[in-house]
This record gives sequence, C-alpha cells and structure tokens, in this order.
Amino acid sequence: MSDGLAIRMRGVVKRYGPITAVAGLDLDVPMGTCVGLLGPNGAGKSTTMRLLTAQSIADEGELEVLGFRLPGESKAARAECGVVPQLDNLDVTLTVEQNLLVFAHLYRIGRHERREAIERALELANLVHRRDSRVDKLSGGMRRRLLIARALVHRPRLVLLDEPTVGLDPQVRQELWALIDALRSEGATILMSTHYIEEAQRLADTVLIMSHGRAVAAGPPSRLVAEHAGREALEVYGPPARLVEVEIEAGAAGLRTRRTGTSVSILGLDGTDGHAFEGERRPANLEDVFVLLTGEEIG
Ligand code: ATP
Repeated sequence: MSDGLAIRMRGVVKRYGPITAVAGLDLDVPMGTCVGLLGPNGAGKSTTMRLLTAQSIADEGELEVLGFRLPGESKAARAECGVVPQLDNLDVTLTVEQNLLVFAHLYRIGRHERREAIERALELANLVHRRDSRVDKLSGGMRRRLLIARALVHRPRLVLLDEPTVGLDPQVRQELWALIDALRSEGATILMSTHYIEEAQRLADTVLIMSHGRAVAAGPPSRLVAEHAGREALEVYGPPARLVEVEIEAGAAGLRTRRTGTSVSILGLDGTDGHAFEGERRPANLEDVFVLLTGEEIG
C-alpha cells in the first residue's frame, strides 16, 4: 500500500446539481490510526463516506482505499472494509446471530471459520447473551452495537463509521465509545464521521474539521487546540448587553471570542491579556477550535 495509508484522497470533488457537497478534499488515514471527520450539518461528511464505499462516484480527484483505486477497484476495497452506516439497516425479522451469519456468508468467510468469527463479533459487541434475540426486541443501543459487530465479522482492515452515536442517549454513547476504543486498541484502522466534538476528542488520533466540503484544519486534537485556540480561555458571564461590550473590547485588544449561550469565551489568553476581564479561566478545547473555524455551534 502506498505510504502506509489506508485512505488517500486528493482534490476530491462531488457535486449534486448546483450543490458542491465535497469541494476539493484531501484526506489521509494512516494504517492503525483512528481519524475523526468532524463538521457541522451539511459539511459533506456523509458524502465523503459514501465516496469511500463507492456508493457515490466523485466528479474529480483521486481516491485510494487500502491501496485500491476508486471507483475502478471498489469491489476489492469493499471486501476488506467494514462499513457501519448511519441508518440502521439490520434485518429485524432475524436474530442477532442470524444477522451476523448473513454477513459472514456475504463476505465469504469459510465454513470452518464462520463460527469463530461470529463468536468474536458477539463478544466484542457484548451481545453474547442476546444472540438468540430477534433484532426488533433489542434496545437502540444494542442495535447499534450489532450494526458495528456485523461490520467486523470478516476482520476488515479498515472500519468506516458514519455518525456512530447520532441520536443516542449519553449512556448508550459511552457504551459505544468503549466498543470503538476496544477496536482501536486491537490496532484497527478507523475513519469515523461525527458532529459530536467530544466523540472526536475522545476517540480520534487525528481530526479533520470539514466545512462546506473542504478541510479547514487537520491534526491531533491537542495540536489543533494549541494552534488555533491557545492554552487558556476566559469565560465571561453577564447580561446580553455586557456580552456585546466584552466582544468589542476583546476584539479591540486583538483577542478572539466566541459566544457560548449565556457567556462569551475569550480565547488565546496565554499571557496576561485577560486581566481586563472578570471571568472563569478554563483550558481551551476542541469545541473552541470548531466554532472558530466553522462559525457553527455544535448541534
Ligand atoms: P449531516 O451531519 O447533516 O449528515 P454531512 O456533513 O454529512 O451533514 P452531507 O450529507 O454530505 O453533509 O451533505 C453535504 C451537502 O450535499 C448538503 O448541502 C446536502 O444537502 C447535499 N447533498 C448530499 N447528498 C445529496 C444528494 N443525494 N442529492 C442532493 N444533494 C445532496
């Protein structure tokens, strides 16, 4: 594989009529790493994922998945990828185990290895005790775990997760994070799209922030924070009129700010600049970077 990359995209463009969903995207996913594709609604994350599974064909640019060129060699690439779609497309009339069996056949796992492959997927997803349950009897979190297990049954070299925890409650999200973390520690290569900052910060080695179909920043979360938001931020609370004043004063002092509901965050306070303002100091975070670069609050 060229330069140890599981995914290599260069200058990729995808248009839908007048809309340019992906507008010249470069993306590298090194083998053995977890990369988070982070962006607000409509940034082009799902389109990027569809291009990588050859469900959509790019209008321009180069795409390689596991060394295979897309779209020409997409069949070979797909055979070695595990894809977890955003929408649950499990067969609800089958049991957990039967769903896994269907995929084991589909991925041509040999008869003698099938049992072991299914056991492994059930264990990883913590679904051994529910193997005989019909899918329509499972909770939302269990269905998501099964969706991930199904994508892993053939031991893919690359796992593509499209918004793995969207719409789930915080407790279920934590369970899924533990599952994705377990995958990472097994050395899997993962590309995960998300619009949850915390998810990217917790799980990804590197994050690519997308806005309007383009990459606006890429790197390890801690480096992005240091580069764009500095070390420290000051959270200033007050009535709306005061917040507007603070924004103006901070702007005049050359400091960057962002609104966070009932407060204004003044960013990049790594020296003594913030002494003019009363507020609570806190470490800068990836959410600050996200808002600075995309101009969007998190959904
Ligand atoms: P979300 O977080 O809301 O899923 P996203 O970052 O995944 O957003 P995409 O779904 O890739 O964004 O959409 C990018 C842009 O392309 C949007 O403006 C969307 O309306 C448009 N788009 C995506 N798919 C199609 C399609 N099949 N036909 C027309 N426009 C599309």
